[in-house]
Amino acid sequence: MKTKILLKETDMPTHWYNVMADMPNPPAPPLGPDGQPVGPDALAAIFPMALIEQEMSQQRWIEIPEEVREILRLWRPSPLYRAHRLEQALKTPAKIYYKNEAVSPAGSHKPNTAVAQAYYNKQAGIKRLTTETGAGQWGCSLALAGQMFGLDVRVFMVKISYQQKPYRRSMMQTWGADVFASPTDMTAAGRTILAKDPESQGSLGIAISEAVEEAAQRDDTNYALGSVLNHVLLHQTIIGEEAKKQLEMVGDYPDMIFAPCGGGSNFGGIAFPFFADKAAGKEIQLVAVEPTSCPTLTKGVYAYDFGDAIGLTPLMKMFTLGHDFMPPGIHAGGLRYHGDSPLVSQLHQEGLVDAIAVPQLETFEAGVLFARTEGIVPAPESTHAVAAAVREARRCAETGEPKTLLFNLSGHGHFDMSSYDRYFAGELQDYAYPEEAIQESLRHLPKVGG
Ligand SMILES: *Cc1c(COP(=O)(O)O)cnc(C)c1O
Repeated sequence: MKTKILLKETDMPTHWYNVMADMPNPPAPPLGPDGQPVGPDALAAIFPMALIEQEMSQQRWIEIPEEVREILRLWRPSPLYRAHRLEQALKTPAKIYYKNEAVSPAGSHKPNTAVAQAYYNKQAGIKRLTTETGAGQWGCSLALAGQMFGLDVRVFMVKISYQQKPYRRSMMQTWGADVFASPTDMTAAGRTILAKDPESQGSLGIAISEAVEEAAQRDDTNYALGSVLNHVLLHQTIIGEEAKKQLEMVGDYPDMIFAPCGGGSNFGGIAFPFFADKAAGKEIQLVAVEPTSCPTLTKGVYAYDFGDAIGLTPLMKMFTLGHDFMPPGIHAGGLRYHGDSPLVSQLHQEGLVDAIAVPQLETFEAGVLFARTEGIVPAPESTHAVAAAVREARRCAETGEPKTLLFNLSGHGHFDMSSYDRYFAGELQDYAYPEEAIQESLRHLPKVGG
């Protein structure tokens, strides 16, 4: 029985899959401050035209440039594993497969889009990229990609993470990026926050505002976002395309797919290529897994909202907890986003994509079980998918169903060991966001269409 199912480099996909071609209804457009759909020109101040076109394209297959493939080949195709030892520990008749995206240099799926974004910006004559990072996964990925294409990268890192995750910062600097603790005094947004609160610990929303401001003001500089947007999900579909080929090699097909869901990019990445089959009538369940502390798809509303905390971005129709929602300090930093990808949101609204929320302790319990059986220490974000697969495999053990389960191991947890320490010390808690707090934050949604 095979453990690792490996593709040859020459089998790496040559095209990304665009789910918009197979959605039953056209995606809801982003809106500007006037309530009208935003055109390409409005985005051109911070994104290259090639990415803006991908953001709006309805074309089913979009070619991956050879220059991008050449860099992806440093770690792709990524292995698909059959989790024999986890299955045995659970005494389940279910077959469990996982796609290992932890093998990238930065340790997660995020370089799949970082490399593509750096390439298109380079092609457009851009010299530097700005971005924000919370836990540091995205900042590392863009620093790596910028280095590969000779672009300067400036990362606004949320101040509290800058202090608590010094090795993520060193990694970004090793790849040549400049990293600043946000809020800084380099931007108007940062200065405004510091004037009000000189001790501000920062937030993702503030860091986005700083990065966007700098990109909008300089002709040689663009902004890059690590999740949520259509083109980011497009670049991640290489995950699901590879997984499909790998399962074919062993004559299998999943009944259910699980992925952790923050902004929706690794979920869309693994699930969308299978959605094409679902749209053609195949039975398959696609399940986004989120924390109970930031339950966007399971407890939020489907409405137009801002992508950032301050309200600088266009309005996107998505599941949201409200743009001023302040998620508690749970240990899966990459899942603490108030909104979700508009594509994932629309498919969820239409009943084509499922979502569940899992409490923090169950995710760490599953992460430790996975480390002790399969060997890999998962990122706290990834443990959400592990926990969901473990739940389903245990259910199969009760019912005797031999289901085939696939999940995305979106990253490793080597920089998150302090979170595991706190779990072992019994210091972590479950936290379900109180309904009243969600309702309060939803009262501040922008009014659209009068
Ligand atoms: C960023 C991140 C996530 C969540 O982001 P998505 O855009 O929802 O994929 C999940 N896992 C890891 C390891 C991450 O770094």
